[in-house]
Amino acid sequence: MKIKLIKVGKTPLDFDIKSNEMTFKGYLEYHANRLILLDAKVNGSLGVQCSQCGDEFKLSLNEDIKFYLCDGAYDDSDNIALDVVESFDSQVDLEELLNSEIELIKSDYHSCQDCK
Ligand SMILES: [Zn+2]
Repeated sequence: MKIKLIKVGKTPLDFDIKSNEMTFKGYLEYHANRLILLDAKVNGSLGVQCSQCGDEFKLSLNEDIKFYLCDGAYDDSDNIALDVVESFDSQVDLEELLNSEIELIKSDYHSCQDCK
């Protein structure tokens, strides 16, 4: 699901995306200075590999994700330490965001119940 950033206003724009056993649910809301807040939760279970015995197991996820999207290059001259992701095509691809979040979680070290 791609959302044009220009369509995001002060009224939160809800989204709810499913990918396999994961859900990505939250909203987008215009903040200020071309910045758009993304506030969402990732829920579900993900098949990961145990870093010790190599067995596959299901990891339950319940992650909060919160960052800002910037329509174009982000100018941080205000020196506010914000978590900003720049968009150069004036839109956000929510599936892509969810997939990169999943990849990030998968790349972490995980231990199965037996190895804990
Ligand atoms: Zn293990």
